[in-house]
Amino acid sequence: TSYLDTARNAALAFGDSLLGLARPRLRLGVTGLSRSGKTVFTTALIQNLMEGARLPVLKAASQGRIARVRLVPQPDPDVPRFPYEAHRAAMNGPGRRWPESTRRISELRVEIDYERASGWFKGPATLTLDIVDYPGEWLLDLALIGQDYKAWSAQAVADARKPHRRQAAAGWLADLGARDPDGPPDELAAEAASDLFKDYLARLRADPEAVAVTPPGRFLMPGDLEGSPALTFSALDLGHDRAPRPGTLAGLMAERFEAYKRVVVAPFFRDHFARLDRQIVLVDVLAALDAGAPALADLETALGQALAAFSVGRNSWLSSLFAPRIERVLFAATKADHIHHTSHDRLAAVMSHLVARALSRAQGAGAQVEAMALAAVRATEEVRIRQGREELPAIAGVPEAGEAIDGQVFDGIAKAAIFPGELPERPEAIFASDAHWQIRAPRFRPPLVEADAGGRTRPPPQIRLDRALEFLLGDRLA
Ligand code: GDP
Repeated sequence: TSYLDTARNAALAFGDSLLGLARPRLRLGVTGLSRSGKTVFTTALIQNLMEGARLPVLKAASQGRIARVRLVPQPDPDVPRFPYEAHRAAMNGPGRRWPESTRRISELRVEIDYERASGWFKGPATLTLDIVDYPGEWLLDLALIGQDYKAWSAQAVADARKPHRRQAAAGWLADLGARDPDGPPDELAAEAASDLFKDYLARLRADPEAVAVTPPGRFLMPGDLEGSPALTFSALDLGHDRAPRPGTLAGLMAERFEAYKRVVVAPFFRDHFARLDRQIVLVDVLAALDAGAPALADLETALGQALAAFSVGRNSWLSSLFAPRIERVLFAATKADHIHHTSHDRLAAVMSHLVARALSRAQGAGAQVEAMALAAVRATEEVRIRQGREELPAIAGVPEAGEAIDGQVFDGIAKAAIFPGELPERPEAIFASDAHWQIRAPRFRPPLVEADAGGRTRPPPQIRLDRALEFLLGDRLA
């Protein structure tokens, strides 16, 4: 070996040990509210990498530098494994269907063998990628940490009385009126109030288009904690400004509120969230647009709360609990295959706009933030349909069995072409009080991907998944 080689190897070894490059690792968080598309995204991400899909914008892939991608045992024995194989199988073949959605945290470890692009470190390398999928509802709990029971209760009651929530909250609000916060700390009373409160929160989300989310996040996505005392409390109409007294119903609720923060919220942020390096937040912007301005305002609030979690560590007392190290956050509007590609940029602009306001409110997130529109699995094709004299840019796919479009009920086999609607030219328009962007987005079945001559199936088509991966991982595969 030449002198230069020796010097290069020495430098490599030094650089490796210094920078931890010998075993580069990256923890990628995948989150979003329920039904935003986390399970589909995570499955597609792994499948596209493992099965060598064409990913033009992901440089490592398009330059042919990804040699092998494999699943290996995950690092955390106490976190459920993301059931990739089952999800992949569900979406494939003639009986294809969408996978079971995320209900709790799960993780999967992937090793990516690749060639470093250039420079001193040129040569084979391996990136260990840990993907952590968790309900976005849990992120919203961060807002609780800085609140006491009294303040949280007042806010929750005020929110429930807002016009667009009043109906969902009717049962709970009626019950509240009959509860005496200064009455005895009765277990059954706490349980009854808590059940009605949870029922209200669930109703807010029951409509497939609803986005309203009020913490506590575990009341919607309890994970393994269902039924425990830390999850058995409710806001009360305190009706006065005194702090809840011990030995009263309000006192009991306040204790449990504190317990929830201590045994549920803090451990999640400390043990999971704080260890993430990169984060993708999936958002079903189309559903929110379709639901109208109040739903968009709720979504914006939720995104603001999520962003607040990413900005901890720069400034605040919260950093004593955990200091996140997230360097990049991608906000992705999902299911972009529900609209024609001529609208993709508008969808991305709306996504951007929703976080721009949240960003300015959250006072800078301390991480590189980007917004885009994508479809992890593209279930539609583009077509043109004639309406009178006009030709409209439309989409076509196989609606799920039972979906009804213009009075026609589909059987899961027949194809349908629809004009999905228009997105606003200027994203600000979404908040106009009379705005209503009706997006017709029936549930399409996952696409049927034909096997190749060797009987192997390829990953389903996608939209801009490669762009998302380049932003999230590209620099670590350089
Ligand atoms: P999660 O609750 O965040 O895990 O959401 P899922 O990943 O389970 O997605 C919820 C539903 O949204 C799925 O069952 C699909 O109907 C739909 N969906 C998710 N991603 C896509 C996508 O890329 N394209 C289309 N057409 N539908 C999607």
